[in-house]
Amino acid sequence: MLTVFGSTALDTIRTPKKKLTNVLGGAATFAAISASNFVDTGLIAVVGKDFPKRYHDILSKYLDIRGLSIEKGKTFRYDGSYDNTLSTRSTLKTELNVLEDFNPKVPEVYKNSQFVYLANNDPEQNISLIKEFDKVKFSMCDTIDFWISTKRDSVIKMIKMVDAVVINDEEAKFLTKEFNLIKCAKKMMQWGAKYVIIKKGEHGSLMFYDDVIFPTAGFSLEDVVDPTGAGDSFAGAMIGYLANKKSTNLSNIKKAIVYGNVLGSFAVENYGLKGLLKIKKGDIAKRIKIYEKMIRF
Ligand code: AMP
Repeated sequence: MLTVFGSTALDTIRTPKKKLTNVLGGAATFAAISASNFVDTGLIAVVGKDFPKRYHDILSKYLDIRGLSIEKGKTFRYDGSYDNTLSTRSTLKTELNVLEDFNPKVPEVYKNSQFVYLANNDPEQNISLIKEFDKVKFSMCDTIDFWISTKRDSVIKMIKMVDAVVINDEEAKFLTKEFNLIKCAKKMMQWGAKYVIIKKGEHGSLMFYDDVIFPTAGFSLEDVVDPTGAGDSFAGAMIGYLANKKSTNLSNIKKAIVYGNVLGSFAVENYGLKGLLKIKKGDIAKRIKIYEKMIRF
C-alpha cells in the first residue's frame, strides 16, 4: 500500500480561457488519484465542514480515505493565475485554514505502508508524519515556494528524512540558491536525498542519483488547458508505479519517471482533476507506447 499525505484543496484557477472557482484540488489529491492507477492508495489530509459531498465522493471512489479528517473550519484554499503561455503561474492567495493547525495522525491500517509520499504541504507536519511509519522502504517529498519562503529550514530538514525529492526547476533554484540545475540537485543530495527529480513542466524532468543523470522529455501535447496538478500527478504516478513493483532499483525508478511524465500529460489536458478522472483502462499503456516511439532513436 502507498500512503499520500498533503493538501486537499478548493482551488480557484484562472487560465486565459476560463476561471474555475472552488474546484477540488490540492497536491495530495492529484498525487493520490494519479497513484491509484497503479496501487491501492491511502490519503491522509484534512478538509473543513465546507468540503462538498460530491468531492468527498470522488475521493472515496478512488482512494482509501480512512486518513481524511473533517475539521471545524474552512478547507485549504489556493488561488492561482496562469499567463498566456500557460507555463507561468502566479499565486494570488494561499489560505491555510484547517491545514494551519492540523495534527495529522496515521491510521493503524496505514502504518505498514512501505511507500510514503509527502506531497506539497507544511514541512513540519510532513516531518512529524513520516516518523509515525514503521516500515518505510521508499519515501519522497515535494514542496512549493510558499513553504520555502516561510519555513526553509524545515524544508531542508524534511529533505534529510526522505529518500527522494521531486521539485520543479524554479523551486529547486529558489530553495538551493543555485542557478544551475545540476548544482541544485547536488546541494539537495548533500542535504541527504538519495534521488533528486527536478521537474521542468512541459519539458520533462531530470533525475539525479549518485553520478547518474537521467533526463526525460515531457509527453508532447498540442492542447494544454490547465497545468494545475501536473507535478503532483507526475510524483503520484512515480511512487505509485514503484509501490506496485515493490522495487526501487534504478531501472524501475527510470520507468517510474516515464509514467510520471505520461500521467502529468493527462492532467494538463483538462481543467482541474478532470484529465485524471477521465483516464480509462488501457489509456496509460497506449500513451506509454507512443512516448517510447517518440523518444527512441
Ligand atoms: P502543482 O500545479 O503541481 O504545483 O500543484 C497545484 C496544487 O497544489 C493545487 O491544487 C493547490 O491546491 C496545491 N497547493 C498550492 N499551494 C500550496 C501550498 N502552499 N501547500 C500545499 N498545497 C498547495
